Amino acid sequence: DSRIEVDNIRKTFNQGEVVACEDISLDIAADEFVVFLGPSGCGKTTTLRCISGLEQPDDGSIRIDGEDVTTDKPKDRDLAFVFQSIALFPHLSVRENIRFGLDMKTDLSKEEKRERVEEVAEMLDIGELLDRKPSALSGGQQQRVSLGRAMVMNPAAFLLDEPFSALDAQLRDQMRTEVKRLQRKLGTAMIFVTHDQEEAMTLGDKIVVMDDGHIQQVGNPHEIYNDPENVFVARFIGSPSINELEGSVTDTSDGLVVSTDLFDVEFAESAAQSANVSRGDRLTLAVRPEHLDLQPETSLFEADVELVEPHGARDAVYLTESGINLAATVNQGVLSGERDRVSVDIDRENVWLFDERGQRII
Ligand code: ADP
Ligand code: MG
Repeated sequence: DSRIEVDNIRKTFNQGEVVACEDISLDIAADEFVVFLGPSGCGKTTTLRCISGLEQPDDGSIRIDGEDVTTDKPKDRDLAFVFQSIALFPHLSVRENIRFGLDMKTDLSKEEKRERVEEVAEMLDIGELLDRKPSALSGGQQQRVSLGRAMVMNPAAFLLDEPFSALDAQLRDQMRTEVKRLQRKLGTAMIFVTHDQEEAMTLGDKIVVMDDGHIQQVGNPHEIYNDPENVFVARFIGSPSINELEGSVTDTSDGLVVSTDLFDVEFAESAAQSANVSRGDRLTLAVRPEHLDLQPETSLFEADVELVEPHGARDAVYLTESGINLAATVNQGVLSGERDRVSVDIDRENVWLFDERGQRII
């Protein structure tokens, strides 16, 4: 059963002029790692603040362990918040910073508090730093101390709002792996906010993709990548970005034919029936870069290679033809010469169609 249940919350600002989030419903299991993913301004922080109690939703309810906490103060919700900006007390030692929240608790002895601080410091690998001041720590160490402050409280869930965005790329990757490992070890629910799709994919058991105040899709990382429900999700996930071509339905007599400026694609009759389209309908055809084949047996179209971009084991290849730009990926070194002309085929099993409202129909 769920530890946190968010039921249809809505939050507006400026007398209802700004709808920060709306129709937000979510179940979060007791041991689940949930990521809120979406562009800046889409309502991630507001949703998280409503769950934490820092913000009061206009509508909807929030339950923790079955109990309605919608109007409870943050301190009565048994949740721990870790913010983007590291907010340690500069005049307190690491030990005192970590112990800070515990000092309010009267049900623990001094000895128990000391033990808990040291245990957490050990888990975070900052046991050696307990007597230092925050100014004598690196950025990564400081963020570990913030995590430690949350962990000693032994909360029902952790809420983290872009906690690593101030760290450099390498440290961010390292902290990511550590947080995931820690969450597995603690078995405590975590809600992690990020605008970074790679961070979301590596961390989340469940990813909640948001845009414009609304949830666009909820799924595990593979579902979000392999089975996007709409064009926003398809576009937001994946690097290089998914290729999109404007197309229209040119035949429905025997299967379904969609024509673009570069090529026609025929879909099987079964797919055509479920898609429920008619001749002349405008569609967006989309295919991920890895589903373009640049060494094909049969050529669907030809294109100029504009740029080959090394990405380690795979290279990204940027193609152009008739004013349309496409991205493909190939194994490292397969295509050395830029300004080549190449034949291209696409994997028919992995071509998606989106209707004019952006909903996926195939
Ligand atoms: P995110 O965290 O995804 O970047 P936010 O939840 O911070 O998005 O913001 C969602 C929307 O609500 C934005 O348009 C933002 O400007 C607006 N907003 C957030 N907080 C406030 C506030 N306190 N007052 C007015 N508008 C706000
Ligand atoms: Mg935010």
